[in-house]
Order: sequence, then structure tokens, then C-alpha cells
Amino acid sequence: MLLPGATLGVLGGGQLGRMFTLAARVMGYQVVVLDPDPQSPAGQVADIHLKAGYTDAAALLHMANLCQAVTTEFENVPAQSLEMLAKNCFVAPSPAAVAVAQDRLLEKSRAQEFGCDTAPFANIEDEGYLVAAWTQIDGPALLKTRRLGYDGKGQVRVDNLDELVAAFDHLGRVPCLLEGRLDLNQEVSVVLARNPQGEIAFFPVAENRHRNGILDVSIVPARVPEELADRARDMAGHIAAGLDYVGILAVEFFVLADGRIVFNEMAPRPHNSGHYTLDACATDQFQQQVRALAGLPLGDSRLLTPVVMVNILGDIWRPQPAWDKLLAHPGVQLHLYGKTEARPGRKMGHYNCLAATVEAAIALAETSRGELGISD
Ligand code: AMP
Repeated sequence: MLLPGATLGVLGGGQLGRMFTLAARVMGYQVVVLDPDPQSPAGQVADIHLKAGYTDAAALLHMANLCQAVTTEFENVPAQSLEMLAKNCFVAPSPAAVAVAQDRLLEKSRAQEFGCDTAPFANIEDEGYLVAAWTQIDGPALLKTRRLGYDGKGQVRVDNLDELVAAFDHLGRVPCLLEGRLDLNQEVSVVLARNPQGEIAFFPVAENRHRNGILDVSIVPARVPEELADRARDMAGHIAAGLDYVGILAVEFFVLADGRIVFNEMAPRPHNSGHYTLDACATDQFQQQVRALAGLPLGDSRLLTPVVMVNILGDIWRPQPAWDKLLAHPGVQLHLYGKTEARPGRKMGHYNCLAATVEAAIALAETSRGELGISD
């Protein structure tokens, strides 16, 4: 167990690392961030910012010597870097668990082993696999790169074999999955924390809406039957226990028109769809991340109020959004990530709309989005 005063490390300096760092420092830990960007959101608020690449062996060794435990804030961290760190200090989640989340084939196969339904999928290693994959799926499909896809990038809709061949070419002929396209009613996610003792704390299920492939809003509690929310939590818990996972795990599910719930993907880190916990839960996902990494008992993850989280992208900087108007709503809590350059599609911050009912939180989100100029 690592008590406050110990030094924790985070690989990656984005907003997730920043919110972890802030939570850890509030609890009395020292934090080391490794990120090459001198302006990185997490580096700005860390005790020590190691400005080096994620595969820089000397920097990784330095980090391992400074820290008693290290975590990561992005799943595409090179596996060798985590393994290098793990030789010298405690690393959670484990390199093996991160490796599963890095590969769509591995994560879907493991999820099935742990009892989850998934969309039908076929592996494509090279162009020799295309005809068999198309024959297997035989209908509207999505071609997704197995690795490095995020926010809807690295995927193409395909409706026949010719389109599949062209899409595979377009995606650079890298290993892919061909997935049957499902009729989605809703998208929901479960964020959980698991500590080394195997204790699990589940956050309430979030209902997520995306725009241009990027998370737009999360509505909590999700407007799904309680029994479905329980099943989503059970499945996420089986995955976490099955992988002997330590840290924050986010699992995304589809709710289908026929009422079934299927696993889509998971992230081995705090998740954008868990940002509502910052203001609406007794313990937030970053505080739980600190507790899990330090081997402490987990906090109460109970929902204190209905909430809608709204993402703020760089698109609305003209030159800067009207924060005063937004903050004139007493139920709004604003979180900005300290990024100096706003670009379209870049996540700059988010805000949480708190209200007595989920309907009132949705109404507040809609009004405030309109005022900020966030388009639907
Ligand atoms: P992903 O990168 O797998 O999260 O996919 C990005 C988005 O594409 C999801 O949030 C869904 O809206 C949609 N999507 C992904 N896979 C499927 C599928 N098999 N059927 C229908 N829609 C999908």
C-alpha cells in the first residue's frame, strides 16, 4: 500500500493525466508525468514533468526510480515501455491488460470468453483474408483497424466486397476487423475501479451520444431499464476480474433495437464518459484511479445528482467561448484542460450540468450548448 507522500507516475500528459495528477496531489501524493510536450496539460500541474518520448529508455528508468507506482492515461502507450517500467516499479494496469485493450481482435475475443456478446467480426491480417471475411459477415459492415483507432478514426462503412477491398486499401492494408453493422438504439458505458485486493467499485451506467465520431454528451443515469444496467455492470466486472485488472477500466456497450446489450470496446484508463463523476459522484474516477494504484480501499462511487456531461471541442473558439454566460447557470461546473491551441475536434474541456432530474439536466445542457454555439 502506498500512503500519501509517496510518488506516483503517469505515462502521458493529456487531460486524463492532468485530472489524475490533480486528484493525486489533493490527496497528498507527488506526481511525475512523462510526456514530450513541454505544454502538456498534465505536465503543467505535475511535481515533476519529464519531457521525453514514451520509448526513451533513460527517461523510463528515471521515472521508475522516482516513482513507487506508475499508471497510463492512454492505451496506445508502447507495450515495451510499460514492461520496462514494470521491471523497476509497480505498474497498473498491467502491460498484459493494456495489450488486450490495444487490439480490437484481442479485446472482442476476450470479452466473449468472459461471457459478453459482441457484433459478429472477422479478422483480416492481409488482403488474402478479404473474401473469407466478407463471406462470413455477409451484410452491412464496418472495417476497423485493429490498433490505434479512436474517436471513430480508422474505420470505414462497407456494403459489398468491392467497397471492402477499397476500404482496406484506404486504411493502409494494416490488420483490421470486419464487423457486422448493428442496429443501435443507445450507446452506454460502464466505468469501474478495481484495486490490487480485487475490490471493485462501479460508477453508474452512462448513456453516451457521439457527434462526428467524438463523444458529445453523457447522460446519467442512463435511460435504460435497471436490469439492463445491471447486466452491463456484471459484464464489465467479469472482464475486470478475468484480466486481474488494476486501475480504472471503461467498457463501452451497444444497446440494440431488439434489447440486447453487446460489448463494443474497452479503455484501460479513465474515460471521457466518466467525466460526469467529477461533480456528480461521491468519489470521482480520478480519485478512484489514485486509490486503486496506491492499493487503498476504493471510495463510494454513488451518484449524488442527475447529470449531463457536455464535451467542449476547439470548434467553438472564436476567439474564446462565452464562459460568463455558461457559468451564469448555477448548476454548471466547468473543467478546462489548459490547452493553449484550439483546433476543430480537439477536446479542450467539458462541463457538467447538475439538476434535480435527468430531464432538467438535459434541458440545461441543451440551453447552454446553444448559448456556447455548440451545434447539434
Ligand atoms: P468504435 O471506434 O468501435 O467505438 O466505433 C465508433 C462508433 O461507430 C461507435 O460509437 C458507434 O456509434 C459506431 N459503431 C461502431 N461499431 C459499430 C457496429 N458494429 N454497428 C453499428 N455501429 C457501430
